[in-house]
Amino acid sequence: MAVSDHVDLQGFMDGVKKRNPGENEFHQAVYEVAQYIFDYIKDKEIYHEHQILRRIAEPDRVVSFRVCWEDDNGNVRVQRGYRVQNNNAIGPYKGGLRFHPSVNQSILKFLAFEQTFKNSLTGLPMGGGKGGSDFNPKGKSDNEVMRFCQSFMTELYRHVGVDVDVPAGDIGVGAREIGYMFGQYKRITNQYTGVLTGKGLEYGGSLVRTEATGYGAVYFLEDMLKQAGTAIEGKKAIISGSGNVATHAAEKILHRGGIPLTLSDSEGFIYDPSGITQEKLDWVKELKTIKRGRISEYASQFKGSEFHKGKRPWIVEADLALPCATQNEISTDEAKVMISNGIKAISEGANMPTEQDGIHAFLDAKVLFGPSKAANAGGVAVSGLEITQNLQRLSWTSEDLQKQLKSIMHSIHDQCVEYGKENNENFVDYVKGANLAGFIKVANAMIAYGVV
Ligand code: NDP
Repeated sequence: MAVSDHVDLQGFMDGVKKRNPGENEFHQAVYEVAQYIFDYIKDKEIYHEHQILRRIAEPDRVVSFRVCWEDDNGNVRVQRGYRVQNNNAIGPYKGGLRFHPSVNQSILKFLAFEQTFKNSLTGLPMGGGKGGSDFNPKGKSDNEVMRFCQSFMTELYRHVGVDVDVPAGDIGVGAREIGYMFGQYKRITNQYTGVLTGKGLEYGGSLVRTEATGYGAVYFLEDMLKQAGTAIEGKKAIISGSGNVATHAAEKILHRGGIPLTLSDSEGFIYDPSGITQEKLDWVKELKTIKRGRISEYASQFKGSEFHKGKRPWIVEADLALPCATQNEISTDEAKVMISNGIKAISEGANMPTEQDGIHAFLDAKVLFGPSKAANAGGVAVSGLEITQNLQRLSWTSEDLQKQLKSIMHSIHDQCVEYGKENNENFVDYVKGANLAGFIKVANAMIAYGVV
């Protein structure tokens, strides 16, 4: 009898913790999936025989490397770079690169693990990976960012490739960084291939990629509300972050007649009681992507709005919440405040932004809860479409891509309903649905390959 037959969830998690000491974010991500899978596979011998849970919680490989670069004052600086190739059972590794001082192996392993199930949900042939560095692009000149990106790619290029691993952007990695890395890859290999996604439109990027994660999170929210017989129109939304995902989530909320009230960054949040309009949002996009300013400047620019230093937006009363900044940004206590303030639905734009007990509190209170691996899959879905366009040497229209994005988000929603609807209950546990639907495809592919 297989070993996993003898362990319960706690025993399994004890093993994960022992093998990955100190990697708390990774433990958290594995637990979120395992708590549902244990029950699902309990009477399915094939998954036990193949030790699927044990294997799925072990990345294919973790590469870490030194990245040296020179700052504008001629000082040599040393950073650590990583690429976690988690699982390529259903396609080449795919997942973003994050440049942020908080980056470490645990965070990238959790992100790569999550990415594997997210990519499976999209229905596109993509495995899961993630990478990045503890480099902080904030406050650096363009030349410093360029030198860092070139040095980072000088090692990373050995591990990636269009049929191997196709990275993209994430926190701290936007069009500028992707441009520098793509340029360096092209220079080193003398190949013009779609090795990165999120590229500029002039050199193989896809329309709708920039908007896809934020828009997709709102399409998912819309589908959850529709399933529950309601809609976004007229509802107030609290949103965290002020980067790519947050600003595009706010924009789509506006398109649907909702009222975005907040945005944030790592210094605090702004609250605009009269609502963040498209004009104000355009100002924020310029502030964050071109001027590289801070969200606190919003309060000086727009009368009647407030900046709350060192706080997060979850204390503001609203119907909808879109956490779009970073992991564990909604604590269990904050979740309870949101519930008592009457929150109706959450769609996670960021990866794993809600603490585990916070998720349980939302589910117990029957708040509609769209977990990140489902709700924010729109970004990687359009990245997948960027790969296809690059392989065909074609560019699809914005209308085409919007249509495909919507249809992928609908399909993810439907898979979550299929696996997450409790017997005889109307309430859908989207966390359970996303975890089961994402897992089954990857696990069955792994079984087909035998013991590898
Ligand atoms: P950006 O770098 O564009 O923006 C990140 C935003 O989050 C900034 O406002 C940043 O503030 C804030 N933030 C970052 N770290 C923290 C922190 N520790 N505490 C508070 N605020 C923080 O990143 P994205 O918008 O691309 O990514 C946001 C989230 O969405 C991440 O979790 C990412 O993994 C996830 N995601 C992104 C996808 C994409 O397509 N871009 C795809 C799927 C998921 P500051 O400027 O102060 O750092």
